Amino acid sequence: MLTTNEESPVDLVTSKDELVSQAPTPIVFQCKNCRVIIGDSFQWVSNNETLNLITLQALSRVVEVSNIMETSRDGEDIGSTFFVLNCGKCRSFLGRKYITSSRELDSLRDLYSLDVSAIDSYQLGTFLIEDGQQTNFKATPSVCSLHTQQLKMERVLLTLNERISNLKEKLEKLKSTVELRRSKRISLN
Ligand SMILES: [Zn+2]
Repeated sequence: MLTTNEESPVDLVTSKDELVSQAPTPIVFQCKNCRVIIGDSFQWVSNNETLNLITLQALSRVVEVSNIMETSRDGEDIGSTFFVLNCGKCRSFLGRKYITSSRELDSLRDLYSLDVSAIDSYQLGTFLIEDGQQTNFKATPSVCSLHTQQLKMERVLLTLNERISNLKEKLEKLKSTVELRRSKRISLN
């Protein structure tokens, strides 16, 4: 369910400061029941809209991984095995750590997948209150907006990569010019 009013992707940027300013704002994930912090978007790997999951590389220590392996009996992940993730503070269900899966769900394996309906999120820099008034209210980011942010981050990294390879190319050219001049000088002597 993609919204149409998403911001345009990152344009080709020209300075380091611009790159920093266009990087997505970090998001903190909380247990919906007790509000304890369970992870953040720096650990973001992917999202799955069909399964309603946000997958992170690591979670905070408060999250407990069950030691009984279970098997999914229906849905898109049918047949997959997983350990259940529970909130260590209030015992609420938070998500799954997939151990085996179908090929389509390979990207979830051995990672921590949070059930979107079991968590809340807080985007840093939003919900600011000034003089008793909420000045910069933004709705809780949906899986979609998180995905958009991920895409933006990828674009930023790609641009950086491109620039590094350009610099490397220039450096190589410079090196070969220097080598050429040096060898000419040697042959003249
Ligand atoms: Zn909790």
